[in-house]
Formats: sequence, C-alpha cells, structure tokens
Amino acid sequence: MDDFNSESDSDYTSYWRDWFISSRGNEYFCEIDEEYLTDRFNLTGLNTEIQYYQHALDLVTDVFDFDCDDDMREAIEKSARHLYGLVHARYIVTTRGLAKMLEKFKKSDFGKCPRVICEAQPLLPMGQSDVPNTSPVKLYCARCEDLYNPKSSRHAVIDGAYFGTSFHNILFQVYPAMLPPKSQRRYEPRVFGFKVHAAAALGRWQADEREKMKDRLKDAKIETGFEEEDADEEEEELDDEDDGMEIGDGFANRAPAQA
Ligand SMILES: [Zn+2]
Repeated sequence: MDDFNSESDSDYTSYWRDWFISSRGNEYFCEIDEEYLTDRFNLTGLNTEIQYYQHALDLVTDVFDFDCDDDMREAIEKSARHLYGLVHARYIVTTRGLAKMLEKFKKSDFGKCPRVICEAQPLLPMGQSDVPNTSPVKLYCARCEDLYNPKSSRHAVIDGAYFGTSFHNILFQVYPAMLPPKSQRRYEPRVFGFKVHAAAALGRWQADEREKMKDRLKDAKIETGFEEEDADEEEEELDDEDDGMEIGDGFANRAPAQA
C-alpha cells in the first residue's frame, strides 16, 4: 500500500479521496460523493467498526485538523482507508454509485475474463462475504458466471467486503442490457484431431440436457438468455458424431458469425 504521508506531507488535508482513488492498486474503487459521505444516515453502524472513527471520517472528507505524531497518523490513515472501503460497498449499490461503476465496467477497469470463449468479457469486482477481513475481492464474469482472482497482487489483497456480495448482481438487474448472452461454445478435447471418447460422450449428454432445458423454458415462455443459434448447427453436430475426424479450432458449438 502506498504511504500517504511520504507522498504529500504538505498537502495532508487536501483531497484525500482524489489521492485514494488515483493510488496504484485502488483502480477498482470509484469516488464516493461528498454528500453521501457527509450524510450520517449512510454511515450508520460504522462508528463501532472503525478505530478512530471521527478522525478517519474527517480525513476522508478533507476536514482533518488534529495534531498527532506519525504513528497515530498512520493508524488514522489505515482506519480512513478501511472506512472508505466499507462506505464504498454501500455507495456502489445506490443509483449514483451504480452509474459510476457501470462506466468503469464499460472501460474494463476491472479486467477481462481470462477464459478464451468469453472473448474478453469485462469483469466486475465482488466479495464472497459482506463481513470485512473474511476474503479478498474476486472478479465475476457474467458470460461464464464464474469467479476469478485478480491478476495483480495489489488488487488481490483488497477486502472483498469493500464491494460486497450483491453489487454485481444488482448492476445487471438495473442495467439488464449489459448482461451478455450465454455462449453455447465450449472447448472440445481432441487427440490428433480425434475427439476424446469419454469427454465427447459427456459433452453430447450435456448438450442434450441443455436442449431439453431450452425446450422446457420455451414451453414456459421464459427467455433462455442463450445467443442465437445457427440453423445448420444441429445437423452438423449429428453428422459429426461418428467420424471424429474433423479438425476444427477445437471448439464445440461455434457461435454464429457476428453480424
Ligand atoms: Zn468468463
């Protein structure tokens, strides 16, 4: 973690939030509005959670005016970062906070899914617990619906509670157009071009089950969320079953060409 003191000693009481969100490693955070931070209602319960609460809050809101030694300053600084994180988790599920995080999501500020078939789907930060100091932040991919560890060690140590367990799901509820279609493509294991038998059998079974599920959803008139399918796709799949010789790019259920 960068040391605030060493960077701008003379500027100690100015623009703490600017400094915080522009520090290396804090790229996942958005800036919390002044009005949100100064409304005591939004901070309910945090005074018991944070050491030196009042000094930490003063620091975050740029009204810090307390003469203390370096050790005390360091302790207050640490509390201020923790306070910012806990308020952040509350702020990002508000209308303003969601809009700010959406902009960061669109710019891929949280990184992109490493899974090849997800085709660089932007990720969202999330916590596996809302209780601080339980587990570090993870990244959620809405395309494969899976979680990933952040690539950078600076991000990997951020507390997951600073984002919480609900934010990423609320974002897609509020902005459903941002939800990517479900891909049906998947990797198909082959050895010298021949499908690996057990994996192929399992893959066929899973594809069958998926088709049945889609039929049930269709009967119930529920949107499946799967991307549009190619009409000849299924025939091709049937032809393909016995020969096993076709050498493609190794992906089953290719996505239709993008228009
Ligand atoms: Zn993914």
